[in-house]
Amino acid sequence: MTTATMMDVPLTIDLVVERAERWNGAVEVVSRRPDKSLHRTTYKVICERARRLARSLVQLGIGRGDKVATLMWNHAEHLECYFGIPLAGGVTHTLNLRLHPDEIAFIAGDAHDRFLIVDEVLLPLYDKIVAAGARFEKVFVVGKHGVHDNYEDLVAGGNDKTALPSLAESDALGTCYTSGTTGKPKGVIYTHRSTILHTLVAALPDSLQLSRSDTLLPVVPMFHVNAWGLPFVSALVGTKLVFPGPHLDPPSLLDLLSSEKVTVSAGVPTIWLGIREALDGNPNKWPLQPGLRMIVGGSAAPEQLIRDFDRLGLTLLHAWGMTETSPIGTVSRLPPHLEAADEATRYRLRAKQGVPTPLVDVRVRNWQGDVPADDKTNGELLVRGPWVAARYANNETPERWTKDGWFRTGDVARVDEHGFIQLTDRVADMIKSGGEWICSQEIENALMGHPAVREAAVIGVPHPKWSERPLAVVVFKPDATAELGQLRDFLAAKFPKFWLPDAVEVVEAIPRTSAGKFKKTELREIFKDRYARATDD
Ligand code: ADP
Repeated sequence: MTTATMMDVPLTIDLVVERAERWNGAVEVVSRRPDKSLHRTTYKVICERARRLARSLVQLGIGRGDKVATLMWNHAEHLECYFGIPLAGGVTHTLNLRLHPDEIAFIAGDAHDRFLIVDEVLLPLYDKIVAAGARFEKVFVVGKHGVHDNYEDLVAGGNDKTALPSLAESDALGTCYTSGTTGKPKGVIYTHRSTILHTLVAALPDSLQLSRSDTLLPVVPMFHVNAWGLPFVSALVGTKLVFPGPHLDPPSLLDLLSSEKVTVSAGVPTIWLGIREALDGNPNKWPLQPGLRMIVGGSAAPEQLIRDFDRLGLTLLHAWGMTETSPIGTVSRLPPHLEAADEATRYRLRAKQGVPTPLVDVRVRNWQGDVPADDKTNGELLVRGPWVAARYANNETPERWTKDGWFRTGDVARVDEHGFIQLTDRVADMIKSGGEWICSQEIENALMGHPAVREAAVIGVPHPKWSERPLAVVVFKPDATAELGQLRDFLAAKFPKFWLPDAVEVVEAIPRTSAGKFKKTELREIFKDRYARATDD
């Protein structure tokens, strides 16, 4: 029997904080305040304050596993909470401020949040969630605090003599709730270990590729799966951070991207759609860093968007993940042997969700078993890995895990000869027409390649003869339009005839979830009678 001889260092958040403070201490963290002024600090100051915050929380009775909620935009104080709460042994619960107040109150109650740290500008929302039944033992406000306690006093109250607990890597570090696109929100609790491992792999050159030469602007909110883990990665490797605060409109983002010389950013496709339009309207106004990388995920990145940004000298990098996967699961980067492939192949691959990151394992399975890598056969995407949830916080829906330990994503996918995964739909959104399945997401991605279409969602609508038929809900680009026949002709080359939508509804905007995804439940409700009297084929 051989006994290994290596040190048993627990993978805990203090490793990131110590690294950020000691080796990346001088690196700047810039935050845009609600009044649009820029606040500048460094990792050194943030880490010192995070430790003081941790001590103060311990003094107030926060112990191992206690939840401290945040209701905040992206800024330096939120980063202090990311570090300070788990350093105290507590669990950061990032509340999603875009949810309905009733939903936020439910989530805060479900998680048993003890304290809340909230932005001054979000106090009106706080009042609503309290009216909806949320209760916190203590409330600390970043900014003018009124009747509540002040976050600055909380930080200042940390006494150097107060000991911080020693952390175990299996301890809880943070919790997020699924955004509930397809059901009631469910809690996922990340451990220190899952977070550290996710951080290390997300930083890799073939993953999200962050280094100390980078400046990152995370548009993705810190309340949405920890801004995809990017703040942890940045602190560990020494990436300068630029936080946009509450100002997420394209001109404000472009101002910051340009003035802070940002080299990498991250957000959902809607953000990049808006940025593309602003750049088209004002091509020379915002000088951006050549080769600026924009990580895109949360919903599928339309191929056309990737092409448009390439033309502007900017690179969209498509990634897939979920709350349950911390969130990075797959990244779509061309391997060297495909970099010389023809243009159509390259763009087709980059618009797919890609291949799993190291340590993540995926498979696509249907009722017959693992699907062949034929780019045709659909199955459900299953995933497992050290940062994938093994259950929900309250043990709801255990059927989301297979008996052999895989998480069922609820996403429908297929695999091509290169192993690239392509999501074609969510199980709940697939359309059953005359006994055959249609993948709504595939049609809408193709529609978004039509020159007149800004955005398109395709939904299944009840039909007297076919049980369901696809309906396209479309937003046209300014001053552009197209007839149903033209859109069907455009799609006809790519899909079987029975996949083509029977009708088009033109809308000004497609309703979205808190995470920027199409709210298909709402669209299905609005248009449920669209085919009620249809009789033809
Ligand atoms: P919710 O499940 O409530 O929507 P999440 O934010 O966890 O909340 O979303 C995860 C889901 O988002 C995935 O299961 C997938 O359907 C979708 N998604 C994430 N990234 C992508 C992507 N790159 N392409 C297509 N869909 C994506």
